[in-house]
Amino acid sequence: MSSATAPGEEPARSLRERGLRVTRPRIAVLEALHAEPHLRAEQVISAVRADGEVSGQAVYDVLNMLSAHGLVRRIQPRGSVARYELETGDNHHHVVCRGCGRVSDVECATGEAPCLDLPETTSLHGFSVDEAEVTWWGHCPACSRTTPAPA
Ligand SMILES: [Zn+2]
Ligand SMILES: [Zn+2]
Repeated sequence: MSSATAPGEEPARSLRERGLRVTRPRIAVLEALHAEPHLRAEQVISAVRADGEVSGQAVYDVLNMLSAHGLVRRIQPRGSVARYELETGDNHHHVVCRGCGRVSDVECATGEAPCLDLPETTSLHGFSVDEAEVTWWGHCPACSRTTPAPA
């Protein structure tokens, strides 16, 4: 996002658009995730705390509330703690490092509705599906250099 809006303006607008009250902790959480996606809750907490006195529990509450309202996307790679990022609506995927847990975005290869165009023969068991979550697992460049090849 390369807009020239004043700090806090963009998150405030997103909150208002959903009829949510604009509060400092909410703005701070949204800004932290804008600055750096895929943060763990405790990273969000320390980012928000740098900005004022907010309890850890308050940050968790804000994260849950923002997820419930579709402003924040919660991703939870298997065996790893939850990460949070702004919901961009692009339904992108993630690649996760087995070594350090680093998470990076992977653009969807097929566009807006990733991996939803399945061959007719693929059964979704009668479900009406609107999202597909794909996670690739491997080792990031830093970990590839230090991780010995599996025996
Ligand atoms: Zn790594
Ligand atoms: Zn992401």
